[in-house]
Amino acid sequence: MIEAAARRALPKAHRMPAPYPHLLSPLDLGFTTLKNRVLMGSMHTGLEDGRKHFPAMAAFFAERARGGVGLMVTGGFAPNIEGWAKPLAGTLSTSGGAKRHKLVTDAVHAEGGKIALQILHTGRYGYQPFCVAPSRIQSPISPFTPRELSARGIERQIRAFVRCAKLSREAGYDGVEVMGSEGYFINQFLVTHTNHRSDEWGGAYENRMRLAVEIVRRVREAVGADFIIIYRLSMLDLIPDGSSWEEVVLLAKAVADAGATIINTGIGWHEARVPTIATSVPRGAFAWVTQKMRKELRAAGYMLPLITSNRINMPEVAEAILEEGCADMVSMARPLLADADFVNKAAANQRDQINTCIACNQACLDHTFKSQLASCLVNPRAGHETTLLIRAVAKKKRVAVVGAGPAGLATATTLAERGHEVHLFESAAQIGGQFNMAKLIPGKEEFSETLRYFARRITLTGVQLHLGTRVTAAQLLAQKFDEVVLATGVLPRDAKIPGSDGANVLSYVDVLLHGKAVGARVAIVGAGGIGFDVAEFLVTAPGHSPTMNLHEWLTEWGVADPGTVRGGVVRPQPAPAARQVTLLQRKSGKLGKGLGKTTGWIHRAALQMKKVEMIGGVNYERITPQGLFVTYGEKHSEGQLIECDTVVLCTGQEPLRELLEPLRQAGVKTHLIGGADEAGELDAKRAIDQGTRLAAAL
Ligand code: FAD
Ligand code: NAP
Ligand code: SF4
Repeated sequence: MIEAAARRALPKAHRMPAPYPHLLSPLDLGFTTLKNRVLMGSMHTGLEDGRKHFPAMAAFFAERARGGVGLMVTGGFAPNIEGWAKPLAGTLSTSGGAKRHKLVTDAVHAEGGKIALQILHTGRYGYQPFCVAPSRIQSPISPFTPRELSARGIERQIRAFVRCAKLSREAGYDGVEVMGSEGYFINQFLVTHTNHRSDEWGGAYENRMRLAVEIVRRVREAVGADFIIIYRLSMLDLIPDGSSWEEVVLLAKAVADAGATIINTGIGWHEARVPTIATSVPRGAFAWVTQKMRKELRAAGYMLPLITSNRINMPEVAEAILEEGCADMVSMARPLLADADFVNKAAANQRDQINTCIACNQACLDHTFKSQLASCLVNPRAGHETTLLIRAVAKKKRVAVVGAGPAGLATATTLAERGHEVHLFESAAQIGGQFNMAKLIPGKEEFSETLRYFARRITLTGVQLHLGTRVTAAQLLAQKFDEVVLATGVLPRDAKIPGSDGANVLSYVDVLLHGKAVGARVAIVGAGGIGFDVAEFLVTAPGHSPTMNLHEWLTEWGVADPGTVRGGVVRPQPAPAARQVTLLQRKSGKLGKGLGKTTGWIHRAALQMKKVEMIGGVNYERITPQGLFVTYGEKHSEGQLIECDTVVLCTGQEPLRELLEPLRQAGVKTHLIGGADEAGELDAKRAIDQGTRLAAAL
């Protein structure tokens, strides 16, 4: 099964002829029909957690309904306080609450869409003191130890699920999704890892799965036959003592018998040490798991539709998965944050216009984990549909945008879309700025999709692009622009380490952009995002990014066929490192602390697997032909030579804004954005957001 999927690996762009006949065909559920096979999977945006956000949530879903998606699922709503993900998390437990949701369901239905509410009980994952679980076992991702439920307590939770489903119907939803995967409450009953009970809710598997089956059976009884019930089933737990394949299949059949309309795929508990949605996960990496389940169910005569999920971000990927019979529907969540019009564009044969989700998690999941509203790095309007408006201009201006990195691209295309005359100057022969380096990092191949999107958008919006033009202040003044936007980015910081002018010293730009030769033993100075990325680049053999080869990736992270091993996890077997790399920083403490909240652990684990040595708390004394000499501590006393052939400098960046003063002195209205404005803490999320907001206001 895995072998077959590995052969498929990353579906090639344009492999399927548009307009994606499988993806766009309707799905008849008996009592209702979905217009296509796209489910917008549940995403917690934070809009669920406050009454004041309901108008924004209605606009958010209405925009995606207009975009053509077949069925959407809301972010998780708790059925009661015990089920809260965090204090005061969105809850649906009263008729008053249901009335508020009418705003959302009416807005979606007005656009011809369909929407289900996700019932999410987090159990021991709850980041709050009232959390409950089958047994009193704390999870590694919450500081709160759950209260063990009595049998009566379990009954109360089931009733809360049923009440929440009935209220969802009252609120006008087309269905509910019962969240049974990702290690949440229902999942916690299923495995002995978290269920140590000896009553009728623990012990034998028949007892451990009773909660899931009871919830679906009693929800179906309560809501009637003509209401969608999606059951999100953990098909691959990715934890050592997770469910066996026989157990997962037994549960799938039981929830189908109990009244589920559709089974959705869940992959990996939140505490699993295998990445499941990050950008380094191959596209469609887990479709083979749903396919395995689909074969089991069809062989036993179960015909209910199955949804597959995780890292499906372009229509041709989804189409190939459906064509191969892996599933009946695909779930895409973040790709619809990135582009609300995804389905309409696919249907109009405009895949080249899709703003592709690059799976960075930077503005969505990372925000959620910091209790901020979710948005999207490549689409700052996501979650801000009512406030960030791109309106046609009343008075057309001539605007120069200097620099075609992410900041300049977002600014220029948004300005032109609004109706301004825009000239975009770029000194390089191609657009993209630093994204041209990011896309070369193994596991960051998706970044090239953003450049493809902007290249197309430049053409469509009529931006006049001047490549290979290092524009000067004098040239800009001569052309008499109404306004100038400087998006000229950054220069690598000179760390002024004695010996850094030696032949064995390179900058990250030399390594990535200019392809300079790097020796077998490398010391990387600076362990920020770029230092980590350069380390990943240097330990990977050229052309061997595991992200582009599903079989290699599964082997590297220790993912196995769940039919052969419980939970589907085995010992990771990474390919040997292509070089011996030492990564250093001056700060003491763990390296990579400042990386993404939900992805930093993946970068650290990936480098540890390649035996990269990580050293903090160093002083860089000098670079010699033998290597890098460092000392430790304030007194610079103890010293050590890190022997290496090449030293690569990744010591941060400084803004490049040489054009600012001459333009301002000449009285030109000049704006500074992206790295040119502020290089510290700069990332593409800020660059694109700042550019888009400036362009929306000019
Ligand atoms: P830049 O991307 O630096 O673009 C500036 C552009 O201006 C350049 O193309 C330059 O040629 C042009 N220019 C300068 N002067 C002139 C002139 N006078 N005339 C014409 N053109 C000029 N960020 C993330 O958020 N997530 C990541 O995962 C991530 N990974 C990265 C990995 C690597 C290896 C690197 C190098 C960067 C990464 N970044 C990442 C950072 C991100 O790429 C930058 O924050 C972003 O590119 C900054 O955008 P910008 O438009 O301000 O500047
Ligand atoms: P960065 O994150 O600021 O890291 C710079 C590194 O250089 C730090 O390790 C810093 O650590 C060190 N440093 C700074 N000044 C130094 C000096 N004078 N001498 C020696 N070392 C020095 O910057 P970056 O790595 O260049 O990345 C640029 C931006 O791109 C960042 O904002 C980052 O968010 C973004 N980016 C993001 C990702 C991602 O995955 N999200 C990936 C790549 C880049 P010490 O001071 O402790 O030595
Ligand atoms: Fe995708 Fe990144 Fe946008 Fe999240 S922030 S939706 S991962 S592109």
